[in-house]
Amino acid sequence: MVHWSPFVVSFKKRYPWVQLAGHAGNFQEGEYGRLLKRFCACEQQCLQKLMGDALRPHVPGYHGVVQRDQQDYNLMDDLLADFDSPAIMDCKMGSRTYLEEELSKARERPRLRKDMYDKMVEVDPGAPTEQERAQQGVTKPRYMQWRETISSTTTLGFRIEGIKKADGTCNTSFKTTRHLQKVKQALEDFVDGNVQILELYLQRLQELRSVLETSEFFRTHEVVGSSLLFVHDATGKARVWMIDFGKTAQLPGAQTLDHRTPWAEGNREDGYLWGMDNLIDLFSSMMPP
Ligand code: ATP
Ligand code: MG
Ligand code: MG
Repeated sequence: MVHWSPFVVSFKKRYPWVQLAGHAGNFQEGEYGRLLKRFCACEQQCLQKLMGDALRPHVPGYHGVVQRDQQDYNLMDDLLADFDSPAIMDCKMGSRTYLEEELSKARERPRLRKDMYDKMVEVDPGAPTEQERAQQGVTKPRYMQWRETISSTTTLGFRIEGIKKADGTCNTSFKTTRHLQKVKQALEDFVDGNVQILELYLQRLQELRSVLETSEFFRTHEVVGSSLLFVHDATGKARVWMIDFGKTAQLPGAQTLDHRTPWAEGNREDGYLWGMDNLIDLFSSMMPP
């Protein structure tokens, strides 16, 4: 029989919390390995539903709404809490990172945007059409759709948002990382030649994919702008979670998605599983023969 000492308290290691995407002010550290994320009703509803779905083990545990300094927050588990100097990667999933609703809203009063034109030219001087060049402006829907094509979002169904390695180096400049070889290089750099970690990630992704294929939540939601958070450390632990449900929308009526059919406006397909397939193939191709 094992007697537990009543004095055993688990001390969580302190480390600077790391945020790889989003606005810096959106997060606050909570107690007991929890995290506060600026309140969003859409995300609240998703996290609530996920707590009763097959995906529950693959998302941060959700603990309701809390207030701090007159601001509402969603309280969730800090996924880094059980790791020691972790390496972290945020991969934004799907072949589209805006909602169909955002696109139709952007079309309502199409104005020419000089700021978006300038951003476009900064990345690719050849991107604007002759007419856009003459106008020195692009419309917002045009900009939104163009922006997806400069990363691997449209070509692979996912894009790397950021990587932080165990040595502290951080890279969030993947906005124009589009080609398979470049993405592979970034993933290789992230796992740093550690085959055990690579294999664990591959297993985790395959397991998650099979859960996604049975999840009621997943079948009935358009999952846009959501990420996979990869976390590993020197102890050999490696895990993958789904995060960021601020743009995950329930489908109307009995509509469902297969998440692999290419998007055509109106079908609401998000390419999530297509991106997952590509990510798994890429990780598989990195395994030694
Ligand atoms: P955006 O919509 O621009 O992607 P956001 O404000 O919705 O940003 P998230 O994407 O949810 O924020 O999170 C931003 C970053 O914060 C993630 O890339 C990750 O590094 C970290 N993060 C988010 N949620 C968690 C969590 N539960 N545990 C640990 N880290 C987290
Ligand atoms: Mg995000
Ligand atoms: Mg978000």
